[in-house]
This record gives sequence, structure tokens and C-alpha cells, in this order.
Amino acid sequence: MLPEHDLSYILNELGEDRDQYFRAIAPPIMQTSNFAFKKVDDLRKVFEDEYSNYLYTRGLNPTVDILRKKLAALDGAEDCLVFNSGASAIFASVFANVQSGDHIVSVNKPYTWAQKMFDNTLPRFQVSTTYVDGTNIDNFERAIQPNTKVIYLESPNSWDYAIQDLKAVAQLARSKGIVTIVDNSYCTPLYQKPIELGIDMVLQSATKYIGGHSDVVAGVLTGSNAMMKKIFDNELLNMGNGVTPFNAWLLIRGLRTLPARLERITATTHKVIAHLQQHPLVEEVVFPLDPGFAQYDLARSQMKGACGLLTIVLQAKKMQEIVTFCESLRHIMMAVSWGGYESLIIPKCASLQPEAFDPAVRDHRMLRIYVGLEEPEYLIADLDQALAAVGR
Ligand SMILES: *Cc1c(COP(=O)(O)O)cnc(C)c1O
Repeated sequence: MLPEHDLSYILNELGEDRDQYFRAIAPPIMQTSNFAFKKVDDLRKVFEDEYSNYLYTRGLNPTVDILRKKLAALDGAEDCLVFNSGASAIFASVFANVQSGDHIVSVNKPYTWAQKMFDNTLPRFQVSTTYVDGTNIDNFERAIQPNTKVIYLESPNSWDYAIQDLKAVAQLARSKGIVTIVDNSYCTPLYQKPIELGIDMVLQSATKYIGGHSDVVAGVLTGSNAMMKKIFDNELLNMGNGVTPFNAWLLIRGLRTLPARLERITATTHKVIAHLQQHPLVEEVVFPLDPGFAQYDLARSQMKGACGLLTIVLQAKKMQEIVTFCESLRHIMMAVSWGGYESLIIPKCASLQPEAFDPAVRDHRMLRIYVGLEEPEYLIADLDQALAAVGR
């Protein structure tokens, strides 16, 4: 195996040239907006191709480059761009590949801001989107039109963990010259490698597991050199939405401990799930690598792990019971996002008007739990006392 493919080499060495900075173990934050030239010819060369050298930090920056090399290698991709949010990575990857009159096929219920882009922004430019149930490959085949340019995937998604057969969708898209994009935030490149399955571009919110400490917002996009250069030259430079050197440095720092954190979170999650599954108030635990999951076999075939995000369906008759449960938690905090050191919860009913709550609708009784780095017993005790507070 080449060292470039070795996980420890990627995280500890790849992209780092310590001779350039006093053999410092941690790389410097190259906090500069611009770079100086000695020759007019050199300046001209970079004006012609800003992807070839350092000119201005809205484009390339040495600290960001260390991160780009590591993230590209983790995905097994030729190249990588890092944005100032996952939403930026989503927007740039799609926007770069459509023009007026084009059509997109997206999996049902993609991440909120992907959906808002498809529903609100792109229609202003005559780009339309068809949503499909991605659990069946035939649905993609039926939705494809002659003007379909992009297939947008998210596998698993982050509420019900519906997954798509990435290899099959990639094959179908390739045969029709359609670009495939997958949101891989749930698995990270450690637990799923969509490029190896034939997907063209992979994105993830680095705000989640890569950052890992709930202190940075960023997004990753990987793919071919040609595609990354095209997006750099247009969307990234034009929108100016690249990651800052400081945030890139925090993400390099996050990467050092990514495998250890994911391993720890995975082990704790299994304990939390086993406990919740035998609790009388928990109707169901939804987790893609649980043997009871509807797409368990497909999940096992394309995912190496599943980590800390799971959904429970509470046996509630009234919304107040869900509210009581959430508000009784003493340690698990109620917040959006996930992937940090701290465990979190978010009830689906928070996105409903109270009068719209219907206990007969399973989704209304869903709560998403993120398991962080705490001791498993600490989390289980907190969940137990909050379930007891529901008082049934
Ligand atoms: C958080 C998230 C995003 C967006 O990332 P930001 O960094 O918040 O912009 C995209 N996809 C999924 C699945 C997410 O959870």
C-alpha cells in the first residue's frame, strides 16, 4: 500500500512540509490576505490561472492547502475544495453544473438548505427539480429527462437514514452523462467512500465530525481535478465562500483525532441504542446499522460504520409528553447540528405548529439524538430520568 492511502499518514503527514516552518509539529496559520511576486512573468502566470499558485487568500492559501490534500486523500478523490459552510459546498457543486432549462433529480427530503436551493433559488433561473424516493433505483430511472444534468443524493439522510444504492445510481448516471453528487456528512470519508463507488462529487458539512468540537462552520467538496478547478475558477472565487486559514487550521486539528472520536462515539451509541430499545416508552429506534433497519443489508454493503446519530420514536399521546422529556434532560442539550463532543437532542415537533401535532403520525413523535464523547452511563442515566419524568 502506498503511504498516501494509509489513514495515519494522511492525518499526520500528508500535505505538511515541516521544513518550511521551523519543523513545527502544528502547521502555521498563514493569516495573510495576499502574496508578493518578484517577477512580472510570475504574476502574469497566476493572473491567467489562479489555481496554479498563491495570489490572494480568497483563492488559494497554504494552510487551507494542507487541509485540502488530506481531505482529498481521505475520500480517494483527485482534488478538494473547502468552503465556509456545508451549505456553500452544496450550492457551488450544484450551481456549477446547471444552466437555464436544465433539470435535477434529487433524493426526497435532502438537507434543508439543499431543498431551499432546489425549491426557491434555482427555479428563478429556470432550473427545475424532481424529488424521488431513493430507496428504489427504478425511481431515478423514471425521473431522468433528456435535460437532467445532476443527480443529488444524501446517504443516509440525517432523520430517517434512508439510503441510496450509490453504485447503482452512479452507474445509471454515468451511462447518461449526468453528474452525481452525494452528501456524505453522516458517514464521513472514514465510514463511506462514494468516489470508490463511482460517484462524481462528494460533499460533507465539516461543521459536524471533521471539526468535531462545535466551534467551526465549514464544508468539504471532493471530485476530479477538472471539476474542482471549474468550481474554483467560478463559484468559489466569485462568491468568495472559501474557508478561512484559521478555520482550516481548526479542521486540520479536528482531523488528527477523527478516527479516535468516531470509534468512541460508535461504541457509546451501541450502548445507548441497546438501552433505549428495551424502554417501554420508546416505540422504535431508527439507526442504519441496526439489524432491524429496513435497508440494513444495503447499509452494510456500502457503509463501514454509522456513528452517533439516531432517531427514536416516542410512544407519546400528546405533544406535551415529548416537550416534558426534552425539557427534563439535564446534560443532553437541545440544539441543532451534531458531530461535536457533546450529546444533543432535537424533537421533530419543534418544526411543527403545536396544533398540527398528530400522535397518529409517526414522524411527529420522532426525536433525533446525537451521541457525543461523554461516558455512556452518564447519557443513559440522563435519558432514563427524562423518560421517567414523562410519568407514564
Ligand atoms: C449540517 C449539514 C449540512 C450543512 O452544513 P453547514 O456546515 O451547516 O452549512 C449539510 N448536510 C447535512 C446532512 C448536514 O447535517
